[in-house]
Amino acid sequence: MKVCKFGGSSVSDAKQIRKICQIIMADPARQVIVVSAPGKRFEDDIKVTDMLMRCADARLAEGDWEEPLEQVIERYRGICQELDLPAEVIKSVTQALRDVVCGSTEHIGRYQDAVKAAGEDNSARVIAGALRKMGCTARYLNPGEAGLHVTDEYGHARLLPGSLEKLGELAYVKDIVVFPGFFGYTPNGEVVTFSRGGSDITGAILAAAIGAELYENFTDVDAVFVADPRIIKAPLAVREITYREMRELSYAGFGVLHDEAIIPAVRANIPICIKNTNAPDAPGTMIVPEHQVIDSRVVGIAASGGFCTVFVSKYLMNREIGFGRRLLQIFEEEGVSYEHTPSGIDNISIIVDEASFPESTEKAVCERIEKELEPDNVNVERGMALIMIVGEGMRYAVGIASTATQCLAKAGVNLEMLN
Ligand code: ASP
Repeated sequence: MKVCKFGGSSVSDAKQIRKICQIIMADPARQVIVVSAPGKRFEDDIKVTDMLMRCADARLAEGDWEEPLEQVIERYRGICQELDLPAEVIKSVTQALRDVVCGSTEHIGRYQDAVKAAGEDNSARVIAGALRKMGCTARYLNPGEAGLHVTDEYGHARLLPGSLEKLGELAYVKDIVVFPGFFGYTPNGEVVTFSRGGSDITGAILAAAIGAELYENFTDVDAVFVADPRIIKAPLAVREITYREMRELSYAGFGVLHDEAIIPAVRANIPICIKNTNAPDAPGTMIVPEHQVIDSRVVGIAASGGFCTVFVSKYLMNREIGFGRRLLQIFEEEGVSYEHTPSGIDNISIIVDEASFPESTEKAVCERIEKELEPDNVNVERGMALIMIVGEGMRYAVGIASTATQCLAKAGVNLEMLN
């Protein structure tokens, strides 16, 4: 059995939905289908999830929510009409969207998540209808009914332990199951969404739950590329990449796959294949537990900005037992997660995500460092970028760091630290 996930651009209109139906029908193993909400059809288009968020915000602000809601309904109506689906489908989608947008706003996070999730939920209903219309025995499955239980962290749900077992029953379903991505239910029956782009996570959870032979993630690119095609012209496609390599690249900005999405699949050892809905026969990129052959080349290069360094130096730091622990404890107690900690004999840098380190937190952290650790120097630098050069086999190759640093030098870029 394979789990297939189709992203927003793969379900953005009737034409794309027909393509995905063909893809599903081309392989009987494609039985568990996870779908996103309709995404952008063209550059300046708006994703249904963003439209729904506007509705929710407008309703919360007591503004005009009818107009954006009408636009969402129109989007689904257009798709259903073009797919020639029965009138009841349009009727039930319209009703479901109205009900959720007009629902209780007593708890803001709960309300916003319920509205956001309606994009995927109705997408799944429509796509199940489209498959039936094309002659398949397909049905929509509600995540709550299937047992996808999550925490009540609105907008950042996490899977509750124990869910996989119940979800595993999906392996025995005979029909094609169309499952909305992006959200689950708390044990109390409330809808909670994963972080944005989270339909990838749903796909990986289901793949792990049923022990799928493969998790196929359909998107709008032929493969994962060695570098960002918006920066590097025509980069090479990566044919095979390990989970660890992919995780590092996703962390530093490779947007193909949600970086948390890999985790359930990794734990269950399920290979992931990134494929293009618009060219389904292209080989795509396989994300695997291990490379069969050790390749010492660089697999990918990613970069991202928005980092901040807290540099702390103290003479004889290396002899002061517990210095690092006490330093990190300050970050912990101030609620800041750290990303990296390169260090020297008498200094250590704590690299944090700038977005989680506002000036007020910086002040609190630095004051505590001064007081509790009596360093010689504490210095904060903002606006740092990180370049990640990734490849598991790199450690067996001579000269990679040298080549990379020469490139930076030639471009006149000062290298602050190397990790
Ligand atoms: N529709 C959601 C988003 O735009 C989730 C997804 O597409 O994966 O973030």
